[in-house]
Amino acid sequence: MQGSVFNIYGVVQGVGFRPFVHRIACKYHIAGQVINKGSYVEVIAQGAETDLQKFKTALKEDAPERASIKSIEEFPYTGADFDTFSIEVSERDSSVIFIPPDIATCRDCRQELYDPDDRRYLHSFINCTACGPRLTILESLPYDRERTSMKKFPMCPECSAEYNRITSRRYDAQPVCCNDCGPQLYILNSTYRNGEAIRRVREVIMQGKIVAIKGIGGFHLACDGRNPAAAARLRELKHRPVKPFAVMMRDLETVRRECVLTPEAEAWLDGCEKPILLLDKRADSTLPEVLAPFNPTLGVMLPYAPLQMLLFDYPDQTNMTDVLVMTSGNVAGAPICRSEEDAIQEIGSFCDCILSHDRDIRLRADDSVMALFENAPCMIRRSRGFAPLPITLAQSAGEGVLAVGGELKNAFCIARGNMAYLAPHIGDMEDVRSQAALRESIALFSRMLESKVQLVVCDLHPGYHTSAMAGELDLPLVKVQHHYAHILSCMAENNWFDKVIGVAMDGTGYGLDGTIWGGEILLTDTRTFDRVGFIAPFPLPGGDAAAREGWRAATGIFLRYMPDRAAEYTHQLELCSEAEFKLVSAMVKNRINTVECTSAGRLFDAVSALLNIARKSTFEGDAAIRLQFAAEAYEKAHRSDIYCSQLDWSNSNGECMPADRLFVYLAEKFMLEKDANACAYIFHRELAELIVRRCQAVRAQSGVNTCALSGGSFQNRLLLKLCVELLRKNNFNVLTHKMVPANDGGISLGQALYGINYSHKE
Ligand code: ZN
Ligand code: ZN
Ligand code: FE
Repeated sequence: MQGSVFNIYGVVQGVGFRPFVHRIACKYHIAGQVINKGSYVEVIAQGAETDLQKFKTALKEDAPERASIKSIEEFPYTGADFDTFSIEVSERDSSVIFIPPDIATCRDCRQELYDPDDRRYLHSFINCTACGPRLTILESLPYDRERTSMKKFPMCPECSAEYNRITSRRYDAQPVCCNDCGPQLYILNSTYRNGEAIRRVREVIMQGKIVAIKGIGGFHLACDGRNPAAAARLRELKHRPVKPFAVMMRDLETVRRECVLTPEAEAWLDGCEKPILLLDKRADSTLPEVLAPFNPTLGVMLPYAPLQMLLFDYPDQTNMTDVLVMTSGNVAGAPICRSEEDAIQEIGSFCDCILSHDRDIRLRADDSVMALFENAPCMIRRSRGFAPLPITLAQSAGEGVLAVGGELKNAFCIARGNMAYLAPHIGDMEDVRSQAALRESIALFSRMLESKVQLVVCDLHPGYHTSAMAGELDLPLVKVQHHYAHILSCMAENNWFDKVIGVAMDGTGYGLDGTIWGGEILLTDTRTFDRVGFIAPFPLPGGDAAAREGWRAATGIFLRYMPDRAAEYTHQLELCSEAEFKLVSAMVKNRINTVECTSAGRLFDAVSALLNIARKSTFEGDAAIRLQFAAEAYEKAHRSDIYCSQLDWSNSNGECMPADRLFVYLAEKFMLEKDANACAYIFHRELAELIVRRCQAVRAQSGVNTCALSGGSFQNRLLLKLCVELLRKNNFNVLTHKMVPANDGGISLGQALYGINYSHKE
């Protein structure tokens, strides 16, 4: 008998890969075994040559969609002969470990869910080998039932039979359960159970009330998305006046009625990860404005858990809505609630009832948020469905490098061997609950990855809680400049380890000179960087308030660059009152509570205030996003493809990008013409021009032709588009983010890459 050994690398734990191998082995009369080696799956296959060929082809081509095989190695098999094919018990391997993310309910399970003759008819926890919770129920690896929160639900004989039968869709499916043996659903402080609880919650939602619902990776706060009063009340309770709510829609048909849906968007929306996707609202959308005020887009997802499907469709009398507001069940900045105790304490006052169940959530996973750019994904929040799928690195991190990430939108990263595991989004680190969640998840991941962390990496900022936490670990610690980490993150994602011209357009980060950076051009390699460009520095008067109130930055720019006319201009533009102007002038003059910055994010806020679009932000990025929408409105209405730069930048060849000149130009133009949308567009376009000009100058000096774009401002799809287009037009090779956020949610990956190279340097 001929034989081969296949080592298969990829996400293979918990996606039904071993049962799949067993099935095709039976089909092609192959003897041997499949073993989960932790980092890879080893298949030993013996059989007739033609059968072996067929088996090999099937292995590559028919694998479950979710397995995402990275590579297959093949060696000849020389050991003892096998009589049959079998699945061997998990074995451990010390090199690479895969932690499976959660998978949205599959089509087959959905069909069974609504089949009155099926054992699992209307069962809120239906799942199979191809779908269901994974990461969020894991306690440790390998992924087996006794190491998940399903261990407290012993399988009934029927489920057990399915679990053990090769031909079953639930063969080897760890969370398998049914109405007899699975978790129970209930409304807290009531007698409503299971089906009764679902019926009751549907009624309550249609009465315009707010319900907290325990989901896969945490609690949601939900209400009828077609009921403006309910959504407005939720806004009030959550102290969230305008930040867009994500919505869950019943099906693709509903999405198509309300939003513009391209085939690519549909594929992501309905894929096995089911992220929240930002879609343009249709002009004839009938949804209330309160869901996403001043916003032409809407964050939409489809039901991804059986319970969510049952909330939309259930055989009862309720005439249910087809759109639910589904916002994270948390206090702003805190991590999403995962236990009933947390829910009662933190969001209990935001809702009228709590729908819960007794399957524990071990690890939080918020809904992932993504947009599309040139039909490719643009991750905004990487969590459920995606985290912690590893990113392959060129160099080995050895036993372990821990990168703790930044302060906002924190997500940490553990690199081990050649893999970087970017953990799910946690939250903002000023909140002590987020700090606790970070500590806990780091401990859990280190355990699962069997990582012995030897080096810790944190941000250079002395005031970050993450930096303080990293210091407490009593391990060798290195610090990385914030924007350098952004660029490294983009390089790591793109598997690019040569020199790049890094363009970091960002909010704020601590600079090497102690000022606040955020609009930087960094000539970068994996070991070091040179700051070769920056936005003209301007004062930010008012400390923390300056980050929320763009008029302060705008006034600061006038005071710095047009001191003689600052009073007149701020008055004419109604940027602030006379008293405010006096106060801010004194602050800037005497450097009281004022920092110097080169931040692109703060510049966007300043321009938004200047154009009277948003004088203040009620959430991070608010004013900047509205500036983008204004610019896009102009772009839509005009032939912007023939736009020619209106300013003469030819004499600005230094490292300093004269955004101040652009600012003053816009101020004067706006005072004359009052066309905010046009000015917003010109701002985007000319800023891109400034950036690309700087990149060209750096290329001329350094010979480096690849640009890496990163930083939170590149979530602005117009800025991204304009920069990418202009760079390509000038023959640059352009690297952008796709599956890793351009915002601070991605910097731990860059920190990890730096840590790895740092340890190789030692
Ligand atoms: Zn399924
Ligand atoms: Zn059962
Ligand atoms: Fe940043």
